[in-house]
Amino acid sequence: MRVCLDPGHGGNTGARGNGLIEDALALDFARRIGHHLRLRGWETVMTRGDDRFVTLASRGALAVRTKCGLFLSIHLNAAASPSARGCECFAAAGDERSLKIAARLTAALSSMGLKNRGAKYDTQSAHGSLRVLRDTYKNMPALLLEIGFLTNKADAELLGDKFFRERAAVAVAEVISQRD
Ligand SMILES: [Zn+2]
Repeated sequence: MRVCLDPGHGGNTGARGNGLIEDALALDFARRIGHHLRLRGWETVMTRGDDRFVTLASRGALAVRTKCGLFLSIHLNAAASPSARGCECFAAAGDERSLKIAARLTAALSSMGLKNRGAKYDTQSAHGSLRVLRDTYKNMPALLLEIGFLTNKADAELLGDKFFRERAAVAVAEVISQRD
């Protein structure tokens, strides 16, 4: 089985807060998750391996072309209100198969100190329907994980800690490799 890991953004920072930058952290999480998936015998494909711009269209296309069995996009959140915090995970609207995995991912991360904001369909996202999910979910379970809020002090303390990131990566890899 092969997993496509999609670190959000690249070459354009994405969200920022408390001295943290989304695109660098998303790449760090993707590398760690990939490492732990490979330890469990899975193959991994990355939509970017460094800080470069990658179009949304090419991300899903890569996952489909390389016949991945799961697509995981990794992001960090930001909000105008510094009290917004926690993890949430999106699936394409109506994609129940992926929503179940999304719920297991947020439950696993919430056991490590992040508030569980739950599994949601992308129509509930601030960004509306999410292109990378729409391009992949008919071929494989497709998830977009927002691990925490850079703009929240407590979340940023966790996200900025490499030991937390490592534990979170193990938890995500476990959920993904245990499904079905
Ligand atoms: Zn993002």
